[in-house]
Amino acid sequence: MFKKILIANRGEIALRIIRTCKEMGIKTVAVYSTADKESLHVRFADEAVCIGPPASAQSYLNIPTLIAAAEITNADAIHPGYGFLSENAEFSRICQENGIKFIGATAEMINQMGDKATAKATMIKAGVPVVPGSDGLLESVEQGKKIANKIKYPVIIKATAGGGGRGMRIIHSDEEFQKAWDDARTESKAAFGNDGMYLEKYVVEPRHIEVQIVGDQYGRVCHLSERDCSIQRRHQKLVEEAPSPFMTPELRERMGAAAVAGASAINYEGVGTIEFLVDKNRDFYFMEMNTRIQVEHPVTEEVINYDLIKEQIKVAAGIPISGNNYGPKLHAMECRINAEDPANGFRPSPGKITVLHIPGGHGVRVDTHVYAGYSIPPNYDSMIAKLITVAQTREECIVKMKRALSEFVVEGVKTTIPFHLKLMDDEKFKEGVFTTAFLETFDFSTL
Ligand code: ADP
Repeated sequence: MFKKILIANRGEIALRIIRTCKEMGIKTVAVYSTADKESLHVRFADEAVCIGPPASAQSYLNIPTLIAAAEITNADAIHPGYGFLSENAEFSRICQENGIKFIGATAEMINQMGDKATAKATMIKAGVPVVPGSDGLLESVEQGKKIANKIKYPVIIKATAGGGGRGMRIIHSDEEFQKAWDDARTESKAAFGNDGMYLEKYVVEPRHIEVQIVGDQYGRVCHLSERDCSIQRRHQKLVEEAPSPFMTPELRERMGAAAVAGASAINYEGVGTIEFLVDKNRDFYFMEMNTRIQVEHPVTEEVINYDLIKEQIKVAAGIPISGNNYGPKLHAMECRINAEDPANGFRPSPGKITVLHIPGGHGVRVDTHVYAGYSIPPNYDSMIAKLITVAQTREECIVKMKRALSEFVVEGVKTTIPFHLKLMDDEKFKEGVFTTAFLETFDFSTL
């Protein structure tokens, strides 16, 4: 087992990883930018190294500095968390070359899956259903229009390097193509330094359902059932739950088998997620694979009673898995508490948290790095906490979430709590009848 892990991340996920390391008897090294010196992950780690100024490019994305920090502290592994360098093939490769275990996918796996157009081709070979669309990258608007007319509008163009819902545009007609193409490429170039685009059929009102998988170094892959992430605003997840209210045992079996086949096709090692779109006929299509731990992993942890970070560290250290699949025993839900104003277009609301009360009680979990007096820096994403509830049934889980949300007090900044409270009262949401289009008609004006 590893003796010391450097966590190349910040915020709640850095703290989340430190907690598991402590339970496993592994020493931890936190890294932080000058904007994060007061963050809890710095205080909870055994050692902490300042890696640069607030800008991510000069701190959390600075590979030479991170490697140097691991070397001076004698860390034998690096956990990248999510975001930042977690799916960066070069970082994974450099870690390996320096004799530091990267707790994530190898450069080869990331290259196969990180590039979305290539990932689709790999999945087709593994027999996993994919959304019809371009064969690899689009070369021109003309070619795009041709494919769109063949598979019929609406279509969606997506950045091959995309993430977080950015670099994609829905197109309804030939006339809209040129502008959407220009906008998506500009956005993608700015966000990911890559403007490669691919095209697929836009599935109307689908569900976003993803399957959690784990693979070990000996070729075994299993799945840990699904999460429903259909509650999204502008393709960004706000609420996730497990199991999906749309799931049937038969569909879980089919989706689980497809996810395992897809991961096995690249000899996947580590924890990962295969994302699917599911239409109203319960036909499903591969969308992308995330070769890292995800923000919403706690809902799976709660329904199968399993520490996914521990599992991730164990497989990285070469410990085999049983190979059994796991189904949900309970119902869990996660609300992303962001420092954003939901009544004002979810505009970021950085600043100082003056008063904070964190909810608790039976079946309530809060993963957060903030505290009263903490100043939220404007430099990073705006998530300040994840509120997770778990209960015997979905109905009880929602009741518990509502109760926990009403106890949650954050003063000094705006948060998404009023949105979540309203959602928990929504009849359609309570019935479990929703698709990724649900929030398009949601009334945010009364928040
Ligand atoms: P990202 O990596 O940016 O999150 P994804 O490929 O996971 O991008 O897509 C994000 C969201 O965009 C999905 O959850 C879904 O709501 C929507 N989406 C993506 N592709 C399609 C499609 N072909 N049809 C309908 N919706 C889509």
